[in-house]
Amino acid sequence: MGIVPACVAQVALDVPLDMAFDFRLPPGVSATPGTLVVVPFGRTQRVGVVVGLAAQSQVPEGRLRDVVRVVDDLAALDEQTLGLLSFCAQYYQRPLGEVLLTSLPPRLRQARRRRLRLPEPHAAPPHVIPDTAPTLTTEQADAVGRLRQHLGQFRASLLHGVTGSGKTEVYLQLIEAALALDKRALMLVPEIGLTPQLEGRVRARFPGERIALLHSQLGEGARAAEWVAAQSGSARIVLGTRLAALAPVPGLGLIVIDEEHDASYKQQDGLRYSARDVAIRRAQLAGVPVILGSATPSLESWANAAAGRYDLVSLTRRAMPDARLPRVSPVDTRADRPAEGLSNALLRALKDRVARGEQSLVFVNRRGFSPVLFCRACAWHAECTRCSANLVLHREDGRLRCHQCGLARPTPARCGQCGSPDLAPVGHGTQRLEEALHAALPGARIARVDRDAAARRGAVAATLAKLAAGSLDIVVGTQMLAKGHDFPRLTLVGIVDADAALYAADFRASERLFALLSQVAGRAGRAGTGGEVLIQTDFPGHPLYAAVAAHDYAGFAEACLAERRSASWPPYAHLAILRAESRDKALALAFLRTAARIARGLGSPVEVFDPVPAAVERRAGLERMQLLVRASSRQALQPFLARWREALDQRAERRVRWALDIDPLDT
Ligand SMILES: [Zn+2]
Ligand SMILES: [Zn+2]
Repeated sequence: MGIVPACVAQVALDVPLDMAFDFRLPPGVSATPGTLVVVPFGRTQRVGVVVGLAAQSQVPEGRLRDVVRVVDDLAALDEQTLGLLSFCAQYYQRPLGEVLLTSLPPRLRQARRRRLRLPEPHAAPPHVIPDTAPTLTTEQADAVGRLRQHLGQFRASLLHGVTGSGKTEVYLQLIEAALALDKRALMLVPEIGLTPQLEGRVRARFPGERIALLHSQLGEGARAAEWVAAQSGSARIVLGTRLAALAPVPGLGLIVIDEEHDASYKQQDGLRYSARDVAIRRAQLAGVPVILGSATPSLESWANAAAGRYDLVSLTRRAMPDARLPRVSPVDTRADRPAEGLSNALLRALKDRVARGEQSLVFVNRRGFSPVLFCRACAWHAECTRCSANLVLHREDGRLRCHQCGLARPTPARCGQCGSPDLAPVGHGTQRLEEALHAALPGARIARVDRDAAARRGAVAATLAKLAAGSLDIVVGTQMLAKGHDFPRLTLVGIVDADAALYAADFRASERLFALLSQVAGRAGRAGTGGEVLIQTDFPGHPLYAAVAAHDYAGFAEACLAERRSASWPPYAHLAILRAESRDKALALAFLRTAARIARGLGSPVEVFDPVPAAVERRAGLERMQLLVRASSRQALQPFLARWREALDQRAERRVRWALDIDPLDT
C-alpha cells in the first residue's frame, strides 16, 4: 500500500471481466456513481462509468493512474438507471461494465468525440400536422379508464385486443394522461413495428412534444442526440425498439410494450436481454404501471394474467364501425394442388379482388426465389459451404445466397455432383410468387415487400405508400408486412406454405405460428369491408388453423399451456442455455460435456440436459452446440447460474466461444 490518495474512482469498463478498476481522481475533480469518465487503458483511452468511490485503493500508489477527464457534456447516469443495469448484469450473467457501456449509444462510448449540443427542452419539429383523439369505443374507454387508475404505482396489465381493436389509441390516451401528471412515457415497439406510420401517429397526437426516437437504424449522431433528449428529460415521450428499454428516462410515469409477444424484444447476442422483461422490472423499480399489449400475447404473459399477477384488459371487437374480424378458411392443397405456389381457390379470390378494385396480400415467410436448388438426376442440392443451410436461389441477380451467413455465389449451370444441367428450384419464396402472380394475373399491379426489397433505400416505404394510395392491387411479402400497417382497401390475405412450422422441433413453434398467422390475417378487412383469409395447407383440419379461423386466442393458449405444463416447459419452468461455438466441433462438445459435469456437481435443484447441436449446426464456419438447463423457478436457477458461470470462467478454452442465454427464445 502506497500513500493514501485523496480520492479513488472505481470505474466499470467494457471488458470481459466482472470487476471495476481504480483510478485516481485529480484534485478538484469530482464524480458520483454514474458519472462517465475517460480513463487510460493500456496505451489507449476508454470511456468508463464510475460505480463507486473510495478514500484509498488496493492498487499500489505507483501503479494507480489518473482519470483523464470527466465527461462533462453528459449528465451522470441516474440511480434508477444504474440500478436497472446492475440488475440486468446480474440476471443475464454479464459483466457490469459491459452492460453499462453497451447501454450507451456507440458515439457516447468514444473517448474522443465532438462535444454534444444539448437539446432544447421540449422542442418539437415544426412540420407535424396535429391530430385529435377519435371517439373511443365503449371497450376502449373502459380500458383507458381501468388502466389510468394505475398511474402512480407499479402494476402490470395485459391489454389483449384483437387485431384492429385500437390498442394504439388506448396507449396514446394513457400517454396523454401520464403527461398531464407531468410524467414521462416510454413506449416500446418491436423492430418491425416501428413504422413511419406509427411514429407519425404519435407525433401528430402530441405535436408540441419533443419525442425521442431510439432504434438501431439511426445514424450514430442522431442516436446519441435522441438518447440525450431522453436522458435530459427534454423529450417527454420516448419511443423505441428494445434498446430503448435501457435508456434513462427521468420522471418516468408509464411504460407501454406494444406487441409484447414479439421475438425481437429478445437480444440474440452480447447482453441477451428480454426488453419486455427488463421493462417490467423497470416499472417495478420506478413504481409505475406497465402495459403489455398484444392480439396474441406470449404464453408467459397470458399465464401471468390468468394467475392474477397481471391485470387482464380485453378488447374483443374491432374499433372501426362495422369492421368485423376476417373470415378465415383453409384451402386443402391435397385436392387443389398449387401451381407455382398458388391454388385455384386463392387465384380466383385474387382475381375477384383485382376486378373489384380491392387489395390483397399474399404472405409467404421466405424471401428469395426458391429455398432449394435440386438436381433432378442425383438429388444433390446447393448448400452453403460454411453453414448447415441450403442456399436460396435469388433470380433477380442470378445468385445463390446463404440466409445464415450472407455467402453469395453465381447459380451453377450444372449439378455440383453429377454434372447434369437438370437443376430445379424447389419451393416458393417471395420472388417466385411475385413472378407467378404476374403471369397468372396480367395487368394486376403487384409489388413485393421483404428484406431484399428493404435493402433498397425507401423502397418499402414507397410500396406501402402506393398500397395506402390504392395504386397497387397485390403485395407479396414476408412477416415484414405482418403488423403495424393499416390498409383500408385490403380485403384478402392469402397464406402460402405455413405448414412447415406446424411440426418444428422448438416447443414455441406453434405459439409463434399462431401469432404470425393471426397478425397476418388481421391485415384483412380493417375498415368496413369484410375481409377474407385463405390458408393453403395440406392439413386443413389441424387444430391450430381451426383456432386461427375461430379467432380463438384464449382457447389456443389454454391448450398450449396445458401441454407446456405437462412437459415442464416455460412458463412452468425456467430455462438457460449454454451456447458454445468453435471451428472444431469436438472442442465445443468437450467444453459442454465438462460444463455439464460441473453443473451436475454443484448440487443445485436444476435439471442439466446433454449437449446437442444448435438448430443451425454450423454457421459461417463455426460449429455450434448447446446445453440446456431447466429449473422450476427463477429462485432456483439464478444462484446456480452465478456459480456455474464462475466455474466456467476459470476453464477458459481459447478456441471455444461460449455464452449463457437466460430465458432463451430459441431452444
Ligand atoms: Zn446431380
Ligand atoms: Zn452460410
